[in-house]
Formats: sequence, structure tokens, C-alpha cells
Amino acid sequence: MVVPLPRVAPGTAFPPIPIQRGTRVFVLTGAGISAESGIRTFRDSGGLWEQHDIEDVATPEGFLRNPRLVWRFYSERRQQAACVAPNPAHHALARLGAFLGDDLFLCTQNVDPLHERAGSRAVHHMHGELFRTCCFECDRPSFADEKAYLEGPPPCECGALLRPDVVWFGEMPKGMDRIGEAVSACDIFLTVGSSGSVYPAAGLVSHVRNFPSAHTGRFARTIYIGLERPENAHSFDECRLGKAGELLPELFLLEE
Ligand code: NAD
Repeated sequence: MVVPLPRVAPGTAFPPIPIQRGTRVFVLTGAGISAESGIRTFRDSGGLWEQHDIEDVATPEGFLRNPRLVWRFYSERRQQAACVAPNPAHHALARLGAFLGDDLFLCTQNVDPLHERAGSRAVHHMHGELFRTCCFECDRPSFADEKAYLEGPPPCECGALLRPDVVWFGEMPKGMDRIGEAVSACDIFLTVGSSGSVYPAAGLVSHVRNFPSAHTGRFARTIYIGLERPENAHSFDECRLGKAGELLPELFLLEE
């Protein structure tokens, strides 16, 4: 019989979670982890992202309507991301990765490069990367690109429009097979700074709650860290409420 873990009320002092080598940890980060680095989440501004309607700047339809506006938006995000630094939450996950190696699967919904700048390796960017560009039409592989195209980039060599290599609303996130495998085998599932409203990312925790680990046969422990309870809070064993930069460095006790 499976005994559910106690749900911990907000404001309760949380003990750190002991982690041994070989513990399989799946971490999903959202825009909230980068907020203390100065990158705004879109929930902060009531469904707008930096004053823009999501429909205009984060859908394929918006891009086809006005590619120049979309490129200006992502170019400004590139310029902003060039000047920001990782915060203690990104560094804490880099330390966890150095301890666990391949047993940490770090999956981010963020397009910014702050996990890499903190030293994390093998970050899975399920919603793509701000500093990569691809073609809207052809299969040319995406390429690293730090340029800001305020008036739009030149066309692809096939003649079609180039676009930022980010996953927009209505598009399939990247590498869902790998994500599914890692989620199915984890012992601990942690989400940091995500409102729980963007699917399929927001649905991963309910998979963990409903299916025991393919690796151990036991149910994984599910933990949320963020400023407020996410929309999918009912699926977490614990919601630790507060700033990621303050809570995450204290979350794990790495046992040598
Ligand atoms: P969201 O904007 O929907 O929610 C952010 C969550 O973070 C909120 O619940 C908020 O309470 C919490 N938060 C804010 N400050 C925090 C802090 N200091 N510590 C901990 N939590 C904090 O974000 P989402 O769920 O990730 O979905 C947004 C989508 O927009 C994603 O798909 C992402 O690709 C995109 N986005 C990315 C970036 C980025 O790359 N940094 C920024 C904005 C939006």
C-alpha cells in the first residue's frame, strides 16, 4: 500500500532533503527561477510578456502576421539576456548536477541561458533557446546566434523566413520522449518557479503522482518551490513558498 507523504502547510519550516549519489532527480524550472536575475516572468504582468500580448509574440500565427515585431521582441530579449547573471538558485542546481552527474535531469521551460552560465551541463530546453535561430520552413539545423535583429534577419538560404528557435504556443515542446523517460524513472520531482499553467510541462507532475518509478517501483516525492501556490499545486507533496534564490540553496543535503 502506498502511504502519501504529508502535505506541508505554507510557512512551515522545511527540513532539507537528503540526497545520496544514485538518487534520480528530475528538476523542471520555469520563468520564476530567473526572476531574481532580472528577467521578468509573464505572469508578473497579467498574461503579458514585457508589455506584449502572448498571441502576438509567442505564436506561429503572430510571427506570420508580423515577423518584424516578433524579431524585435526576441532581439530585445537577447540584448537583455546578454547582461544578466545567474542567481543562487541556478548555482544550487549546478552544484546538484556536479554531485549527481547523469542522475540529474535538468529540464527548463526557460529560453534564457542562465543554467548554463551557472555551470550546469546537459540542460534540456524544452521550449527552445533564445540564442539559437532556425528556419520557419526548411529542415536546416538550428544554429547558435547571438545577434539582435531589430528589423528582422536576412532570409534563410532556402528563401524563407528565419525565426528564433523557441517553442511557441501551439507547437510541440522539444524532446518529449527523453523527458517522459526521465520523469518515469525519477525518485524526486522538483518544480521551481512555474505557474503550472503551460502544458504539457504542467502535467508532468501528475504523471509522477499517478505512476510509480519504473526504476524503483516506488512513488517519487514531488516538491514545488515558488512565490505562490501553482495552479497544479494539488499534485505536489510539498509546496515550499518563497524566493527560489533563498529556498533552493537550502533544499538539498548532499550526502557524500
Ligand atoms: P510563469 O510566468 O507562468 O510563472 C512564473 C512563476 O514563477 C509564478 O508562479 C511566480 O509566482 C513564480 N515566481 C516569480 N518570482 C519568483 C522567485 N523569485 N522565486 C520563485 N518563484 C517565482 O512561468 P512559466 O510557468 O515558466 O511559463 C512561462 C512560459 O513563458 C514558459 O513557457 C517560458 O518558456 C516562457 N518565459 C520564459 C522566460 C525565460 O526564459 N526566463 C521568461 C518569461 C517567460
